[in-house]
Amino acid sequence: MKILLIVLCVSVVSACSGSRVPAARGAMPGEPEPAVGNDGCSGAPYALPPKGTTEPETVPAPKKNIVVTTGVHGNEPSGYYIKDKLTELGFTTYGPCNPWGIENNNRHLEDGRDLNRMFGRTDCPEAEKIKEWLGENNPDFLLDLHEDPDGSAPYLIQNGPDDDIGRRIVDALKDEYDFDPAPKFMMVTGEDGLLKPELNVLRLMALAKIYGLAYYAWATFDCTAIVVECPGSWDVEKRKAYHLAVCTTAHKLLMERWQKEAEGK
Ligand SMILES: [Zn+2]
Repeated sequence: MKILLIVLCVSVVSACSGSRVPAARGAMPGEPEPAVGNDGCSGAPYALPPKGTTEPETVPAPKKNIVVTTGVHGNEPSGYYIKDKLTELGFTTYGPCNPWGIENNNRHLEDGRDLNRMFGRTDCPEAEKIKEWLGENNPDFLLDLHEDPDGSAPYLIQNGPDDDIGRRIVDALKDEYDFDPAPKFMMVTGEDGLLKPELNVLRLMALAKIYGLAYYAWATFDCTAIVVECPGSWDVEKRKAYHLAVCTTAHKLLMERWQKEAEGK
C-alpha cells in the first residue's frame, strides 16, 4: 500500500510536469529593468525611482526572480519556442532542458531515461546541470512548461500546498480557456484545472527520489513551482499562446502580491 501511494504521488507531481520556477526579477513584462538599490536596513534590493523624480508615494516592490524552464520533455517543444519572448519580458529562462530530446522530438533523454524523474538522483548530467543553474538563479517562483500528449484540456500542477496562486491563475484565464474540470494522474484527481498535492503527498515523494524539476525547485528553494500543461494535440500556435498567457498572468499576480507585501498590507 505504501509503495502504491508513493508511485501515485510521483505520477501526480511529476507526470509530465513541472516544478517551482522563480519569477522574473524586477520590471513587469514589456517594461525596462529598473535600477537596483538597497534599502540600507534589511539588505534586500529595491528598485530605485528614475532620476529626477521625487520620493515615491508607494514602497517599491522588492526584486524577485520568476524562473521559467522549458523543453524537459523533447516532444513537448512549445514552451521552448517562446523562451526568447519570455526572456525579453523579464523572466529568467532555461532551456531546452533536454536538448537531445528537442532535436529528436523524443520525450526521453538520449540514454532512454525520463529527465523529469531524475531530480532526486545524482547520476543524470542533464538534471545536475539544471540543478546547478537553479542554484545560481535562486528562484522565487517557477513555471515549468509542458504538454500532455493525452490531455484534452489545459491544467496546472502546483507544488506549494499553501499558495493560492494556481487557483488565481486559472480563474484569471478561465474565460479564455476551458480548463480540465478534473485533471487526473493515476488515482489522484484535481479540480477546476488545478492539481495541488497536499503536503503529506509531497513528503512521500521525497522518499521515492524519482521526482521532477518542479518538485525539486519547491523542495530546494521553498518556492511555489507549477507545471503548466496543455494538450499536445493543440495547434502549436495555440500551445505557445497558452503558455505565454499563463506566464504573464502569473507575473502580474505575483508582482501585485509582492508589491502589497512590500507595503506591509
Ligand atoms: Zn512533459
